[in-house]
Amino acid sequence: MSDLPETSRGVVYDPDTGSLEVRTFPIRPVRPGEILVRVSLSAICGSDLHTISGRRRPRGPIILGHEICGTIAALGDGLQHDSSGTPLAVGDRVTWSIAASCGKCFFCTHGIPQKCESLFKYGHESIDVDPPLNGGFAEHVYLAPGTAVYRIPDALDDDTVVFANCSLATMAAAMRLIELQPGESILIQGAGLVGVCAAALAAARGAGPVAVVDVDAQRLERAKDFGATHIINAAGMDEADLIETSAGVAGKRGFDAAIEACGRPDVVPVGLKALRIGGRYVIAGCVFPGATAQLDLCGIITRLARIIGLHNYAPTDLEAALAFLNGPGQAYPFDKVVDSHVRLDEISSALQKIDRHKDILRIAVRP
Ligand SMILES: [Zn+2]
Ligand SMILES: [Zn+2]
Repeated sequence: MSDLPETSRGVVYDPDTGSLEVRTFPIRPVRPGEILVRVSLSAICGSDLHTISGRRRPRGPIILGHEICGTIAALGDGLQHDSSGTPLAVGDRVTWSIAASCGKCFFCTHGIPQKCESLFKYGHESIDVDPPLNGGFAEHVYLAPGTAVYRIPDALDDDTVVFANCSLATMAAAMRLIELQPGESILIQGAGLVGVCAAALAAARGAGPVAVVDVDAQRLERAKDFGATHIINAAGMDEADLIETSAGVAGKRGFDAAIEACGRPDVVPVGLKALRIGGRYVIAGCVFPGATAQLDLCGIITRLARIIGLHNYAPTDLEAALAFLNGPGQAYPFDKVVDSHVRLDEISSALQKIDRHKDILRIAVRP
């Protein structure tokens, strides 16, 4: 512990006042099973923006930020290896699952630890819990026991890996759930970071056509660099236009699979109608209160559609995401995802920049 600072700075978001304020927190020794990480980079994710815009309300003052990478500053007793069995030591670069689970409850023992009954989610708890340093917009973060931690491959720099534990791991989970096969067609709704991650993962496993739909021409152009074989600009199109355009890409039979990756409930009926008989549809983006849509149930039944909800992901999905980035993912410009870097006291101006430039995928905080 002797090399550790006594305090660490973090940016606290207060939902009552909407303020973002740099505050100082004490550093305490790590307990068994905990890790203290010095944060290298923490990206501002869409769900951080949802919280700040009031779409989602945290339980109290909070340190946001969950797309994080950093180096181990202190390692608690009992931790010798990461979740894939690689030895861990102080100084190692790591990333980790967005949530820690208990390993004992019903869901943990039934194969869905990401929905643990006492789930602890980084950047989503308040500073009133112990330890308060549990979000990425801070110099340090404590990893709770039950967090899936992975050493970052040396070839991946911080910019390339910082979003792996959110957008990319979630889409790795989507690929697992829809069991996308080589040669199968896929429709991806949304050309934000989640959408381009899905496109690259799909293209790398030999899927095609890989169609990405969005309303922003710039975002769609970029999706081509991430494996999209077809782009569909939905601006000004109604549902019938979109379904007709989709059929023009997938052929009369429809898409083998589709992913909702844009957080717009009104695209879900379109996604379902674009599917072939026996098609699979993952809904991942509409994770906020009031996300409702009117669905043609007869169409779902007669199409034998499989609709799958995706929230959080399993630890193995993060492992798959890192292996992808370190392998086939190198064919795509993931190193360009981060537009720029800011300091802790510059997060407010970064938020304004993201608001003005919808085509920015990520701005990252370097504490
Ligand atoms: Zn995120
Ligand atoms: Zn549990």
